Amino acid sequence: GFKCGIVGLPNVGKSTLFNALTETQAAQAANYPFCTIEPNVGNVAVPDPRLYEIAKIGGSAKIIETQLAFVDIAGLVRGASKGEGLGNQFLANIREVDAIVHVLRCFEDDDITHVEGKIDPIADAETVETELMLSDLESLEKRVPALLKKGQQGDKESKAAAAVLGQALDLLREGKPARLTKPRDEEEERLFAQAQLLTSKPVLYVCNVDEASAAEGNAFSARVFEKAKAEGASAVIVSAAIEAELVTMPVEERGEYLEALGLAEAGLARIIRAGYALLGLITFFTVGPKEARAWTVNKGSRAPQAAGAIHSDFEKGFIRAETMAYADYVKFGGEAGAKEAGKWRAEGKDYVTQDGDIMLFRFNV
Ligand code: GDP
Repeated sequence: GFKCGIVGLPNVGKSTLFNALTETQAAQAANYPFCTIEPNVGNVAVPDPRLYEIAKIGGSAKIIETQLAFVDIAGLVRGASKGEGLGNQFLANIREVDAIVHVLRCFEDDDITHVEGKIDPIADAETVETELMLSDLESLEKRVPALLKKGQQGDKESKAAAAVLGQALDLLREGKPARLTKPRDEEEERLFAQAQLLTSKPVLYVCNVDEASAAEGNAFSARVFEKAKAEGASAVIVSAAIEAELVTMPVEERGEYLEALGLAEAGLARIIRAGYALLGLITFFTVGPKEARAWTVNKGSRAPQAAGAIHSDFEKGFIRAETMAYADYVKFGGEAGAKEAGKWRAEGKDYVTQDGDIMLFRFNV
């Protein structure tokens, strides 16, 4: 599955947010650094109103949402790349995630210790990024010369890897993240992804603001949004305190609470959706009387790969996909109507799955 790692300095609200995300109290929030030791993984249902609509039209007895995993990663402090705090463990955990959700403290509270002594989300972001860049730099300082040597001895793959990772190394030496690297072809792209550099992962900044700023943000979050814009990253405003309160309330009371705060929807829904977009993921659906279900695949996945998200046998024995767009399914009142209107299609192995496709796979067993 796809994983987002929640990172940030200690006491910025990571555990509070993670707990709210997973509606558990697994990661215990406490007002001191290094509280979070083991990475906690929580699977979170991706909210998608289309799924409910499909289930209604298709008369499905059950609804199964697609999921995204969030990992609460042990607190990072200045010096982590040199093994300070829980540094090494942090870096190992972050290597395994597909995207980084970077929580930044944008609230003032004299009772909650700030590890750096003052509230400055931009400086905090840079502290974390610097540790990640130092870690990448250190690993590439070793790997690139070794790859160059193997390349000179005639190993083609090492030569390509040395070229693309050499580019990343140059950027890191200038204090820039590896994500700005431009692989020159598909081979370089593959080798770059395979290197799993920490600073090549996409980032979503989560501005954890005080309750009063939850709707509009504050001066701190405004600066984070500027930074995100300059980097081509995304950012969302959330109040972890509100989210934590929200999940303790009965579902039917949540809407009223949000409305009173001037919020259209829970911040968590926005984080989940932003994470989904960040990872370049799309959703397709399957529907029948038993269940309506949402599935996740990478944007650009062909029909057999989509089938493989359900079961590897579906991919191996793939014959064709029978599909219609979500909009047609709704417009023509379901499968029979969409067929009558000529909106039902049979697609082969080269078909690129579209977000919202309703799919039925035919395969050999
Ligand atoms: P972590 O170390 O980043 O995981 O931070 P925690 O989630 O454990 O939060 C540290 C402390 O800050 C806890 O006492 C939380 O209750 C508190 N906290 C978290 N988010 C907020 C917030 O939005 N506003 C305020 N005032 N306190 C918060």
